[in-house]
Amino acid sequence: MSRTLRVRQSQTVVPFGVGAVFDIQGESFVATGIGDWPARGRQRIESARLAARLGVSGFHAAPATVNDRFDVPDAPGAPYIRFPSWLFCGACRRMKRWRIADEKPGQPPRCPSCSPARTLAPMRFVQICQAGHLSDVDWWFWAHSRRDAGERRGCGERERLRFQVSERASGLEALSVVCTAKGCGAGRDLLDILGTHGMRCSGRNPWQRAGDAVDCVRPVQIVQRTAGNLYYPLTHSALDIPETDVPAHTDDARADEVRAHHLWVPLCQVVGTPRAVMYRTIIQEDTGADEALLDALLGEETGEAALSDVPSGGAGTAPDAGGGAARLDLSREEWAAFTAPVPPATRDFALRETTLGLGGETADPWAALGRRFGRIVLADRLREVRALSGFTRVSPDATVVPVDTARRLKWLPAVEVFGEGLLLTLNRTALTEWEDDRDVRKHVAGMRADLDRSFQKDRLETLTGAELAPRFVLLHTLAHLLIRQLSFESGYTTASLRERIYARPEQDQYGILVYTAAGDAEGTLGGLVRQGEPPRLAETLLRMTEAAAWCSADPLCAEHTGQGFGNLNRAACHACALLPETSCETGNTLLDRALVVGGAHVPGYLETIVTAARAAAADALEQE
Ligand SMILES: [Zn+2]
Ligand SMILES: [Zn+2]
Ligand SMILES: [Zn+2]
Ligand SMILES: [Zn+2]
Ligand SMILES: [Zn+2]
Repeated sequence: MSRTLRVRQSQTVVPFGVGAVFDIQGESFVATGIGDWPARGRQRIESARLAARLGVSGFHAAPATVNDRFDVPDAPGAPYIRFPSWLFCGACRRMKRWRIADEKPGQPPRCPSCSPARTLAPMRFVQICQAGHLSDVDWWFWAHSRRDAGERRGCGERERLRFQVSERASGLEALSVVCTAKGCGAGRDLLDILGTHGMRCSGRNPWQRAGDAVDCVRPVQIVQRTAGNLYYPLTHSALDIPETDVPAHTDDARADEVRAHHLWVPLCQVVGTPRAVMYRTIIQEDTGADEALLDALLGEETGEAALSDVPSGGAGTAPDAGGGAARLDLSREEWAAFTAPVPPATRDFALRETTLGLGGETADPWAALGRRFGRIVLADRLREVRALSGFTRVSPDATVVPVDTARRLKWLPAVEVFGEGLLLTLNRTALTEWEDDRDVRKHVAGMRADLDRSFQKDRLETLTGAELAPRFVLLHTLAHLLIRQLSFESGYTTASLRERIYARPEQDQYGILVYTAAGDAEGTLGGLVRQGEPPRLAETLLRMTEAAAWCSADPLCAEHTGQGFGNLNRAACHACALLPETSCETGNTLLDRALVVGGAHVPGYLETIVTAARAAAADALEQE
C-alpha cells in the first residue's frame, strides 16, 4: 500500500519549518535547509518592507505539494528527510539504521527480518546541542557505555542492536538497547537517558553532509524528539501596508549621526567579524543609537548585515545569524498606517473606520466604556508575510542556525496569509492618566525587574520597546482577553486569531490589532470585521471586561506575583488569559489581568466599567 505524506504550504514556515522534527502517520522527519529546496515550483513572495528590514534579497514559499524527497527524489516541494534514522521493529525488536538507499518511493520503512514485513518505528530519543545541531543518539555507544574502553573495542559490529522491552520494569527502565554482536551482549536501559552523557556532538544537522560538520565542543543533550526545547523557530512577520509618510522621528536624526560617525564605513566593511562588534559598541556609545537602529541601518547599507552581524556563539560554531534580525521593529509604520486617515483600499489593504456606537450613551456602564476606548478601525483585507530566518535548539537564546546552513542564499522561506483584522485603540488621555498612577508604575516596575533578569529580555524588547511600559502589559492582556471573548462569541478558534501589540510610548502607540491568520489566498469571510461593527464590539468588550474580573483559579491567580515562563506573568493563567502559542507575539508572557480590571493594589484601566456594570446589574435587580 502506497502512502502520501502531506504538509500544508502554510505550515512550511511554522510549525514544520527548516530544522523542525515532526511525525506524520507514524513516521518522523526533519525539514531540511533551504539549500536543498528545488528551484522548480517555488513561489516568490513579495514583501519589500520586510526584506529591507531583514536585509535579505526576498522570499520564496515552498511549492504547494510537499513530500519527503527520499520518496520521490525530484518531487517539487519543501524537502523533508527521515529523522531519526535509527528505527526499530515493534515485532522482532530489531533496530535498523535507515539509509537513503533503503528508501522505497511511497513506502514506509519495513523490517528486513520480519515476514511479512512490519513497518519500522522511529526511536523516541535524539540528541541536540546549544549550537543548534541535531543527530541520532549513538545507540551503539549507549549500549556499550557501561563497559570500559577496552571491552568496547572488543565489539566488532556497530549496528547489530535490539530495542528490548522488559516485563519486569516500567517506564524508561523497561526499555533497553542491547548489542547482539557475537560474544558481546552489552546493553543499557533507558532509565536515565534524558540529559547529558558526555557524548560527542555530530557538529551538524541531519541534512548536512558529514563534510559540512563543524568541530563542536558543546555538551550534547539527549531529549525526546517531540520535546519542546528541540526547536525554537525565529520568525518575522510584516503586514502589507500602503506607503505612508511616517512622521519624522528622533531616530532619523540619530541615523544621520550614525552614518556620519568615523567608524561607520569601517563597520560596514567588516560586518560579521569580531571587529564589527567592537565598532558597533563604539558607535552606539558615541551616538546613543540602539541595537534595532544599527541593525536597520546596516541592513540598508550592506543588504545582509542584519542577518550576520551578531557575534558567534562560541568556539567551534559558525557565526550566528538572525539574532539581530529579531530586534527589528516593524510596528512604527504599521501603527502609522492604521491611525492615519483611512487610505484608499488596495488589493491587500482595505480599511474602514467605525465606532463603538456609544456616542449618545449617558448611562453606565456604556458611557464608562465609551470613555475608555478610542478609534476603531476595521481591516476588511490584510496580507501578512511570515518568514523564517533560522532556529535555535536547547533554549530560545542559544546559537541561531540560519535557514541556509551553507550561508550562501540571500532569501528566506516565507508564506503569505490573507485575512481581516480589527484595530482597537484606547482613549489616549485616559491611558496617559492611568499610566501616570503611582501604583501602576510601581506594579509594572516589578514586572520590568523580572524581565531584566530574563534570558528572553532581548527578544521581548523587540516587542515592548526599550523599556516595558504599563500600556504594553495592559494592551497585551486586553488582546488576549478580546481574542478569548471573540472566539467564545463568534466561533473562531483562539488559534485562528492573532495579535499585534502597538504599545510603544515613545512612538505614541496605544492600540492592538486582532486579525485572522488563515493560510489561503481567499482570506476569511468577513466574520471578524462583523464582530467589530456596532453595537457588537461594545457588547463584546463589556462581557470581556466582566469575565476578566474573575478566573476559576482565583484567588490564586489574582494574587500571583510571578507565574508563567520566567515568572513574567502576574494575574494570568490558562484559565483566564493565555492563548495558543501561535496567536501570541510574546510566548504568553507579560500578561496581567490586574492592570485591566484592578486588584493586587493596582487600579485597572477598565475597573470603572466593572464597577459600573455591577452597579447597573444591582439596580436592575432592585427594580424587578
Ligand atoms: Zn521485525
Ligand atoms: Zn557490542
Ligand atoms: Zn553541536
Ligand atoms: Zn487565571
Ligand atoms: Zn500575547
